[in-house]
Amino acid sequence: MSGIIIKSAEQIEIMRESALMVSKTLGIIAKEVKPGVTTLFLDKIAEEYIRDNGGIPGFLGLYDFPNTLCMSPNAQVVHGIPNDTPLVEGDIISIDCGVLKNGYYGDHAYTFEVGEVAAETKKLIEVTKQSLYEGIRQFKAGNRVGDVGFAIQNYCEKHGYGIVRELVGHGLGIEMHEEPEMPNYGRRGRGKKFIEGMVVAIEPMVNMGTHQINQLKDGWTILTKDNKPSVHFEHDVAIVNGKPELLSTFKYVDEALGTITNAEDEFRAVASKI
Ligand code: MG
Ligand code: MG
Repeated sequence: MSGIIIKSAEQIEIMRESALMVSKTLGIIAKEVKPGVTTLFLDKIAEEYIRDNGGIPGFLGLYDFPNTLCMSPNAQVVHGIPNDTPLVEGDIISIDCGVLKNGYYGDHAYTFEVGEVAAETKKLIEVTKQSLYEGIRQFKAGNRVGDVGFAIQNYCEKHGYGIVRELVGHGLGIEMHEEPEMPNYGRRGRGKKFIEGMVVAIEPMVNMGTHQINQLKDGWTILTKDNKPSVHFEHDVAIVNGKPELLSTFKYVDEALGTITNAEDEFRAVASKI
């Protein structure tokens, strides 16, 4: 790849639309995640919603991925393939969704609880979600890639969790994966410098136990080496007026689940369309 592609204000508004279509898709899926439901069923709902609203599923066919959603339950980290196995009470399921609309990608993810989950798993979910915001706060003009990675790693490792090394966040735009790579670990002040108009997907993948992973023979599914749970959250963020501005939102998921939070407020422009 040939370096970081800076987006104009107009391009960022187009990207906000793509990101919001993903956000709305996750909101619709949120209402359907429950014991007995298969990930393939959820995948079909997502594909239909995206196509009905003028989008193209962003993952379907990308590097030959076979579906609209990456569905990664429990010990699966990311890139799980939807299947006919019903979700069961106590599962967690990371759902990652990509959309291509007006030539630009949105890419964002949420980890859902299926019914009542174990307290230690709930904690992993809470910490990973918070680490995403800790990382986003560092995505501002003048900071560097390592500042985001450090913030996420430092926050999660304080809780004894493992940060996946092999998979990372990324620049986002007319390609799903643009420069720079955005690792969820790093050293402060290191790596590429952030400037106005950058758009990235920040996506901590955090394991309850070891950070080490395996890949299934399907060539896609990544899972933890110790088979302990893994959690994944992802947002699309632009640098606007030097500061991080969210293009995606968990608002629709929160509405579906009845979650009340102000975690995103500091990353919204006053005149935000969200
Ligand atoms: Mg993603
Ligand atoms: Mg991504």
